[in-house]
Amino acid sequence: MIEHAVLIVGGGPTGLMLAGELTLAGVDAAIVEWRASQHLPGARAGGLHARTIEVLDQRGIADRFLAEGQVAQVAGFARIPFDISDFPTRHPYGLGLWQNHIERILAGWVDELAVPIYRERKATGFAQDDTGVDVELSDGQSLRAEYLVGCDGGRSLVRKEAGIEFPGWDPTSSALIAEVEMAEEPELGMRQDGRGVHGLGRVEYEIRDGEIVYADHGPVRVMVTDQHVESTSEPTLRDLSEALISVYGTDYGMHSPIWISRFTDMTRQAAAYRERRVLLAGDAAHVHSPVGGQGLNTGVQDAANLGWKLAQVVKGVSPESLLDTYHDERHPVAARVLRNTMAQVALLRHGDARLAALRDTVSDLLSMDEPRKRYAATMSGLDIHYHLGDGHPMLGRRMPDLDLVTSEGPRRVFTSLHEAKPVLLDLGEPGGFDITPWADRVQLVEADFGGTWELPALGEVPAPAAVLIRPDGYGAWVGDGTGVGLEDALTRWFGPPMCV
Ligand SMILES: Cc1cc2nc3c(=O)[nH]c(=O)nc-3n(C[C@H](O)[C@H](O)[C@H](O)COP(=O)(O)OP(=O)(O)OC[C@H]3O[C@@H](n4cnc5c(N)ncnc54)[C@H](O)[C@@H]3O)c2cc1C
Repeated sequence: MIEHAVLIVGGGPTGLMLAGELTLAGVDAAIVEWRASQHLPGARAGGLHARTIEVLDQRGIADRFLAEGQVAQVAGFARIPFDISDFPTRHPYGLGLWQNHIERILAGWVDELAVPIYRERKATGFAQDDTGVDVELSDGQSLRAEYLVGCDGGRSLVRKEAGIEFPGWDPTSSALIAEVEMAEEPELGMRQDGRGVHGLGRVEYEIRDGEIVYADHGPVRVMVTDQHVESTSEPTLRDLSEALISVYGTDYGMHSPIWISRFTDMTRQAAAYRERRVLLAGDAAHVHSPVGGQGLNTGVQDAANLGWKLAQVVKGVSPESLLDTYHDERHPVAARVLRNTMAQVALLRHGDARLAALRDTVSDLLSMDEPRKRYAATMSGLDIHYHLGDGHPMLGRRMPDLDLVTSEGPRRVFTSLHEAKPVLLDLGEPGGFDITPWADRVQLVEADFGGTWELPALGEVPAPAAVLIRPDGYGAWVGDGTGVGLEDALTRWFGPPMCV
């Protein structure tokens, strides 16, 4: 039987990111993916938020995405747009880029890392024992791995077979989405009426001066809110035509559908992200309305949180208990996404003057600077705070990509994270720390930084003397000029000291 250290079911954005993270950390990870190629039959995510761009920048691959997408102010709450251009990040914007392209670029990276992908095979079941998991595939083959990660989407087989509960809320609304050709010129842009929000836009577009400028021809992407909640049946061209006529009075002579699909605002979250040797990430762990564009972003960041932890456990560097911090840190993040998408869905309901008044009120509030900063930091993922204890605000928060000065010249913080290895950043006198017992795992970067420290939503914070940065870019320990607590933090996050 073929064996891998980690088997990932599902090669969507979450599975690809996780495979990349594990491979960078030197772990033999493989993906089982049902699709024959990375081509996605449908549109789904429209882009990336600022924190996801940072996470990709931490691995040195953000430029690949930026080169193909449209940089724009994409964050918003219930379609109330936010401008984050004043945020303290190298990427104070989002990126318009369809999920098809996001997956293609991620797959290219994973390919360079030589991750094996078992394509055109479904995982059909598994059994775990004390040392590993046997996974059955639809072609009759079995694979064994020390750990299995379900990145297999909202209908996750892994989640169901592991017996993990998926509590939440049934859908209250659904919408048809499709990509079609249209014989007549459609009304491009968004429209709102008593049924909800609808939109027509050409697949090809540019952003000029912050405005979407659609191509003059080519396929049209359609979104029409259903009149009733329809979550089970597969939509047809006729359903789409009828829905368009009921909203726009015409179907614009649409024909040649490239794909037709439906999404709902079903909102559910896995009760546990881990069941012994089985873990969940991405949509397999949380589903919600696409409003706010957070699903893919949350999945990619789940992968960045889990990858290095699972790698250390597999390599025997850290105890299995490190994996529990994955649930402890990421479950609350997605729970917050579920909450804010439910609030947004409620605010976007139409046909009720009282809800319209509530929406206007929220819009007024969010136009004020402090609420804008708070909510925009949430929606762009820049305010994520893992509760790692009291102390300096950098503890458990994302490390800014500072422009450092080292003895070898200028260096960005994120450059030091490209290999997905932790960093002890020493901003004090050189030679202040001796981390020889962790030198095989943790890099020591001695540098100067003369600028101010500013965090999204929080503003200016006191300059730390040193920061221990995890591979996912979050502060694990912050120095006050002494080494108090450093050895505990190194051991807690990166395993016991090596005997030297
Ligand atoms: C209309 C719409 C718009 C959206 N817009 C946004 C947005 O703007 N921003 C955003 O962040 N998110 C958005 N999302 C959400 C985003 O598409 C998902 O959150 C994202 O695809 C989740 O990635 P994933 O890798 O976790 O799961 P998936 O993308 O669902 O990937 C799961 C993979 O697992 C494979 N698979 C499943 N079962 C098996 C099995 N048994 N064996 C082998 N392979 C299997 C599937 O083929 C698939 O490739 C949107 C979603 C929709 C529907």
